[in-house]
Amino acid sequence: MITHMFRKASCFSPGLRRFSGLKVTEHVPESPASPRLTEQASLYVHWPYCLRRCTYCNFNKYVSKENNEDIMAKCLQRETETLLQLSQVSCITSVFFGGGTPSLAHPSTIAKILETVSKQVNLSDEAEVTLEVNPTPVGMSKLKDYHHVGVNRFSIGVQSLQDKDLKSLGRDHNSLDALQTLAEARKLCPGGVSVDIMFGRPNQTTDLWSRELSEMLRVCDDHVSLYQLTLERGTQLFKQVQSGQVTMPTEEITAEMYQCARTTLQQHGFQQYEVSNFAKNNSESRHNLSYWTGKQYIGVGPGAHGRFVPLGEGGVTREARTQTLEPDVWIREVRQRGHGTRRRIQLGHLELLEEVLVMGMRMTKGINHKHWELFSPELSLLEIFGGSLAVQELLQSGLLILDDRGLRCSWDGLALLDSMLPVLLVELDRIFFPKTGS
Ligand code: SF4
Repeated sequence: MITHMFRKASCFSPGLRRFSGLKVTEHVPESPASPRLTEQASLYVHWPYCLRRCTYCNFNKYVSKENNEDIMAKCLQRETETLLQLSQVSCITSVFFGGGTPSLAHPSTIAKILETVSKQVNLSDEAEVTLEVNPTPVGMSKLKDYHHVGVNRFSIGVQSLQDKDLKSLGRDHNSLDALQTLAEARKLCPGGVSVDIMFGRPNQTTDLWSRELSEMLRVCDDHVSLYQLTLERGTQLFKQVQSGQVTMPTEEITAEMYQCARTTLQQHGFQQYEVSNFAKNNSESRHNLSYWTGKQYIGVGPGAHGRFVPLGEGGVTREARTQTLEPDVWIREVRQRGHGTRRRIQLGHLELLEEVLVMGMRMTKGINHKHWELFSPELSLLEIFGGSLAVQELLQSGLLILDDRGLRCSWDGLALLDSMLPVLLVELDRIFFPKTGS
């Protein structure tokens, strides 16, 4: 649904999208020493069900005909227990319930999962606990109970305030529902409400977008996540566009919309801290920051991704873990062996650095020298990128900055991050494979 750059960090697949031309894991030497970041992790919990399919969505979600919440709750608890044990972390710093539509889950399900975490590790009162909410009347009616069981941050999928657009996108709410849910969430968690807004929608113009965004900013709280609608094969929207029923804005127009949004948000006091995320009053998403700063995370639920060092199995290197996608199969696996991990890949040193680079460059502050050194004590940012002609070109064009603070994109560069990352990754690769590199 969203491009590499604009994809939700908190979604079931917060990890890397691979870039072509990279070496595969098996050819990469293992990390000589994984950074000592193993006592803590964040936790992502995926609720795979939705009431219906939005026309543009290709997320891992299912429209369930039967109510199996009891089974799902038990399995989510069991997998949480198993993976926490395996990771041997002593502290969970944040929890994010994403989906799908996690606001379809009963508050008692959320409570049980949080209790499971608290029983095993330290989940402090300060920990950020976010729940994604579809702003329907039913979703709104449960906010108080979610808050009561420990949710202290709501991420609300408003997407648009245009009823016509919401309908054509297949959303299960209208603009009034969204405004009411937003007001209720703000009452419960002042400063702890994020709003998802989508641009690049069919027939949208920059002018319409600009007016809609300003209207939205009048009612939203301290955090905004901005997403570009992208066309995904297999979706209803894709078919509509193919058949000429619907027209999408051009790439130039969507690029203009992105820049317009950045400026408008800035004018309204929001600081951009990541490609798609804006905050004021220090309301940055701590959970998503943990992804972008290369911290460990545990992914629970169908299709969830994780990155952690499985100390329980005597490992020393970080693993990329993916849980089984299909909920019924995942449930069977969790019942049989306590977890539904489908794929485990040991991250080699280079792979880990690639992740740190790709995720870190999404942040406006980029990657500072100290942070890089944590993962790469042997080679500094200057040693890796300072001598590259291709990187020099980016530095001279003003799109990239490499200085005392570290490596980061300029204002203009951040909008072009997807085209700069391959240059940086090739350079990183070349340093590790000097004979085969370009
Ligand atoms: S509610 Fe979210 S996950 Fe479900 S179909 Fe719509 S966009 Fe996809």
